[in-house]
Amino acid sequence: MKKLKLRSIPIFILILLIIAGMGLFSFRLAGDGAKWASSRVNGNVYASGRLTRGEIFSREGELLLEYSAGGPQYSEDPEVRKATVHLIGDKNGNVGGGVSAIYREELIGYSLAEGVASGGKLSLSVSSELSKAALSALDGRNGAVGVVNYKTGEILCMVSAPAFDPENGGTDVEDGAYINRLTGAAFTPGSVSKLITMAAAIDNIPDLYGRSFTCSGEAEVGGTRIACTHAHGDMKIEDALARSCNCVFASLSYELGAEIMSRYAEWLGITQSFDIDGISTAKGSYDGSGELLPWSGAGQGKDLAVPASLLRLVSAVANEGFAQDFTFLCGGSGGSTRLLSAETARKLKSAMSYSVYLTYGRENFPGLSLAAKSGTAEVGGGRAPNAWFVGFSTDESFPVAFAVLIENGGSGTLEAGKVANELLQAAKNLF
Ligand SMILES: [Zn+2]
Repeated sequence: MKKLKLRSIPIFILILLIIAGMGLFSFRLAGDGAKWASSRVNGNVYASGRLTRGEIFSREGELLLEYSAGGPQYSEDPEVRKATVHLIGDKNGNVGGGVSAIYREELIGYSLAEGVASGGKLSLSVSSELSKAALSALDGRNGAVGVVNYKTGEILCMVSAPAFDPENGGTDVEDGAYINRLTGAAFTPGSVSKLITMAAAIDNIPDLYGRSFTCSGEAEVGGTRIACTHAHGDMKIEDALARSCNCVFASLSYELGAEIMSRYAEWLGITQSFDIDGISTAKGSYDGSGELLPWSGAGQGKDLAVPASLLRLVSAVANEGFAQDFTFLCGGSGGSTRLLSAETARKLKSAMSYSVYLTYGRENFPGLSLAAKSGTAEVGGGRAPNAWFVGFSTDESFPVAFAVLIENGGSGTLEAGKVANELLQAAKNLF
């Protein structure tokens, strides 16, 4: 009897191990099943290592990409293909971080109950028509255009130029066409960065709104000579932003100091990366050391900003200080980050609305109620400046924020402002 007991112990242990193994398998199936299904060895969804199932639709329900046994099929409209190539990704994976890669599991349509289903359908928040309008408005120039719903974080448009047609396999593309300029590249922000200086000044200079400033066209700030295009005369802080006075903003950043300026560049997300459904954006940079400090506050230092991070900043200004997490999916993300206090956001919004009234001209944006900031950023080397126009609609029923950058585009107000207007007129159809 004792002998029998001793012999049954190994069998008992073996049974325990089998039960534990089955438990672990079930547990891992629930957790990692989608990953297993999307593994390239699963012949149900892959042929020769390629995804053979799944569809991606635009906001309007237009088919942007369909996987079949014959390979990926893009939109029938070549302009839509080009306008969405950085969003969707290309056949060879030259464009990093497209939604076809991010949502691989959803495209396969994996479910625990059914195993691999018949292929997933992905409905994006991005509008194919708006993307097409944005690429057309850039008119062959290099740059980036982003439009989001600042209440939900839904991305309505993400266009980068130069673009290319993914149907052609990405051969003979222009230099730099694989780069997503909205999320993956940093540029001299020019006067758009006065928004960062202004946010820091609102929070840290208690009598800012009581002060009177005078610009004679040039000033000496901390030993550095600062120039404006002309004498801006006497003004209050809102006029200084609307007139984009370098002398005032250089003196404000000098007064605030490099530490506070650098902290705000970080807090407002300029020098940090953020996540869009798994894509990490590039980081900008801020340098307020030594004689760079005054010009850094006016927007002509050595600083760089990623268009998507400026889009996120103006979205937060529009949305009482909260930046909704950006997403490519319909319905929004639900998450948000506070970038500014409600009071600071309100003051920036007021100054940006006033800028449209005083400088950019409401008549240039018919039927729209905008708050904006332009930038004409000198890039040196005899090239035309980068043209920027960023801002948002203050109309609650049309809650969109936008960022437009045209590389070497010339005047921010005239060139990028015009693209922004075309874009917003087209975006009205979505609401
Ligand atoms: Zn000035």
